[in-house]
Amino acid sequence: MSILNVKQGLEAVPGKLAARSFLPFARKPAGIHPQTVLCPFGGFNSKRNFVKNEMKKCAPTVAVIGGGPAGLMAAEMLIQGGVNVVLYDAMPSVGRKFLLAGKGGLNITHSEPREPFLSRYGARRAQIEPLLDAFGPDALREWVHALGVETFVGSSGRVFPREMKAAPLLRAWLHRLRGAGVAIHVRHHWQGWDQAGRLRLAGPEGEIAVAADAVVLALGGGSWARLGSDGAWVPLLEAQGIGVAPLRPANCGFDVGWSEHFSTRFAGQPLKSVALDFVDSTGKRVQRRGEFVVTASGVEGSLIYALSSGMRDEIAANGVATKHLDLMPDKSLERVTEALSRPRGADSMANHLRRKLGLEGVKVGLLRELVAKADFADPVLLAAAIKALPLRLVAPRPLDEAISSAGGVVFEALDVGLMLKTLPGIFCAGEMLDWEAPTGGYLLTACFASGRAAGLGALAWLENQAATPAG
Ligand SMILES: Cc1cc2nc3c(=O)[nH]c(=O)nc-3n(C[C@H](O)[C@H](O)[C@H](O)COP(=O)(O)OP(=O)(O)OC[C@H]3O[C@@H](n4cnc5c(N)ncnc54)[C@H](O)[C@@H]3O)c2cc1C
Repeated sequence: MSILNVKQGLEAVPGKLAARSFLPFARKPAGIHPQTVLCPFGGFNSKRNFVKNEMKKCAPTVAVIGGGPAGLMAAEMLIQGGVNVVLYDAMPSVGRKFLLAGKGGLNITHSEPREPFLSRYGARRAQIEPLLDAFGPDALREWVHALGVETFVGSSGRVFPREMKAAPLLRAWLHRLRGAGVAIHVRHHWQGWDQAGRLRLAGPEGEIAVAADAVVLALGGGSWARLGSDGAWVPLLEAQGIGVAPLRPANCGFDVGWSEHFSTRFAGQPLKSVALDFVDSTGKRVQRRGEFVVTASGVEGSLIYALSSGMRDEIAANGVATKHLDLMPDKSLERVTEALSRPRGADSMANHLRRKLGLEGVKVGLLRELVAKADFADPVLLAAAIKALPLRLVAPRPLDEAISSAGGVVFEALDVGLMLKTLPGIFCAGEMLDWEAPTGGYLLTACFASGRAAGLGALAWLENQAATPAG
């Protein structure tokens, strides 16, 4: 293993780095916080930069691990705060999940008022609220605009960049970060700490040990592992005694267990203008409209994702979650019953449904799949099924397929600056924290806000360390 001087990008002589420590806070041992101060970037580009770079030599170095929205935002706060920032990411490029999020239209935040917005964070509202008070949806939009990317509010209240994509925003942001001096090293997978408290990183040249004055971990959750956030950090933090709630799928699809016939015929087909009837976490009965898609084994899509946390927890508790699906939310039960009770002559029930109610395709397929044969032939029972079709969800789809993760580093392990209480100098941000939210821009908003809080938290901690006389 070699020790890398992160500023010079060169291999340094083991033992030399500690001798170059000169900052007051570097003298304070604290848990496994890396103590060694490294020298800043070598290679001055111009005379003008010389003084700046010389001054930077005196500044602490913060390592940010993870180049998603949270890590990049932490890096931005840190570089603006005048410290040296070196960011590592396991993948060949940063922001891969962010780019994927932009594929179907990057929903960066939501325009709804504060109260409903905050309620989206459910049980973690109290922890997320201060982060959003400091950097909420409006501040996020202004920040996006400052990168030269306009935003607009869609008909649902969701906020998107004008071009819908993440790529222009990420490009402009990385340009700004690099210009400000953030050093980005890709293909470096963080593996934990060595005996000396340095970061162990597996890079293209083998394993290296990196010392830094503070560290921000922004390693993401556990979904879509091929984009970098593989959850491999969980045992590393658990080994340090950090509480980590198990990573679970959030905004995920579910298995129903369709018949072969239904699955073959209807997988991939959308169910539009339907509603799900459910009891929310406060015990209130809610009817939520939207659409979802039939998959080979079950269901997925926006309406399902919106209710997925409750359904996932219900399955964990009871082995099954049954929701009632209204296939015709615009028509009352009386109207549907009346229409189906009209004489149908020689018409099959399928034709009757089409002629009298306009029901056909996957909706009728679903009725055939889930309604007993005798009930399908009875207008009253069939009408009841159309208005409240029991949909039995038996398992959430695996974490890797989910849009996001629930679980992560518990907030009890963190102070208000998102520093791990038992590992001073180590901060956490983004989806790796124990919160969840539905889709709609709430995920990215909290990732940006927590990345900002962790970056500012690290700055405040470093300042405090520098101001505290060494013991
Ligand atoms: C298909 C899809 C669509 C989405 N659409 C939206 C949307 O429209 N709106 C929205 O709000 N949210 C959306 N999300 C969710 C959003 O993208 C994530 O919540 C967000 O990217 C999380 O940010 P993060 O910085 O915490 O983690 P990530 O973006 O996951 O970044 C973590 C980074 O850490 C790196 N890393 C992980 N482990 C290590 C390690 N050991 N060593 C070094 N590097 C490591 C990874 O390579 C990665 O680059 C979507 C997600 C998906 C999958």
